[in-house]
Amino acid sequence: MPTLSQKPRPLPAGFVACSCGVAHSPSAWSRLPLVARMADGVGGELEFRSCVCGWALVVQVAPPPPAAPAARLAVCTACGEARVAA
Ligand SMILES: [Zn+2]
Repeated sequence: MPTLSQKPRPLPAGFVACSCGVAHSPSAWSRLPLVARMADGVGGELEFRSCVCGWALVVQVAPPPPAAPAARLAVCTACGEARVAA
């Protein structure tokens, strides 16, 4: 019988929890050995760092850009014609 709850505890924003039980603060995270950085495929970037236990953790360091806004229309104040803004 496991004595520890498997339910993840809520962490403060920016903290990264490892399965070994260590929670890395944003500043502690930046001091962990960098394993790799790669694109996440949706416009962001993933950063892999090695926990003190040797496990590789990953965080999304660059959030994907917001969804492309719908084409904006610029209306000419002179003629009233609407054009798609560049
Ligand atoms: Zn760990």
